[in-house]
Amino acid sequence: MSGDQTYPCEKCQAPLRWDAEASLWQCDACGNSVVAKKKPVKGAWSYHIEESQVVERWSTKRQQKELQIFQQRLNELGERGWEMIGFESVPLLGGITKQQKGYAYLTFFKRQA
Ligand SMILES: [Zn+2]
Repeated sequence: MSGDQTYPCEKCQAPLRWDAEASLWQCDACGNSVVAKKKPVKGAWSYHIEESQVVERWSTKRQQKELQIFQQRLNELGERGWEMIGFESVPLLGGITKQQKGYAYLTFFKRQA
């Protein structure tokens, strides 16, 4: 599994590699080895953030279409084990005018690593 946790090497900060045979953490970069830390237990949380935008000028039809797309996306992620846990809207302001152009929506997901 690619989501395996690792620790940074205390000497050179390179990611340590778990050596199951020797039962210790190895640094391939500097040769350091660490016995103190146990292999992390599977089951920690992974997080994922998606961004989508809603613009005030959108017609009702466009809004419905975007909602459909968003729902599809949620279902896709849900099938892959991502649970939606939060939703945050951030106003989008014009760079010069500072007038509100719309919203960016941040959607937060989690699943077991
Ligand atoms: Zn190192």
